Amino acid sequence: MALIDCPSCGKKISDKAQSCQHCEFAISQASPEDLARKNSLKKYLQRQGIQNQSMLAMLLFVGGFGFMYWGGVTQEDLQFKLAFAVAVIGFVWYIVNRVRLVFLKKSD
Ligand SMILES: [Zn+2]
Repeated sequence: MALIDCPSCGKKISDKAQSCQHCEFAISQASPEDLARKNSLKKYLQRQGIQNQSMLAMLLFVGGFGFMYWGGVTQEDLQFKLAFAVAVIGFVWYIVNRVRLVFLKKSD
C-alpha cells in the first residue's frame, strides 16, 4: 500500500482507496480531466497565496525602511534596529516567495 496525495484536498490517502477519507472526493470515478482541473485550481490558489505573501513581505520591507528614514529615530534607538530587522525579514521573505513562484511555474 502506498500513500498518494488526494487531488482534491492534498492530504495523504491510500492509493487503493476508492474515495478520500478526508474530503470524500471519489478518486475511482475521477477522470484525468477532473484531476487536471483540480490540480490547476490548486496551483492557482497556491500562486495566489504566494502572491499575497509577496505583497505583505514588500509592505514589511517598505514599512521598515520608511520608519528607519522618516520615523525620527537614530541608529542607536531600539526602534531603528527593530525597523531594520523588519525590513530585512520582509526582503528575505519576498525573495523566498519569488523563488517559490518560479518553482511553482516550473512544475506546470
Ligand atoms: Zn481529499
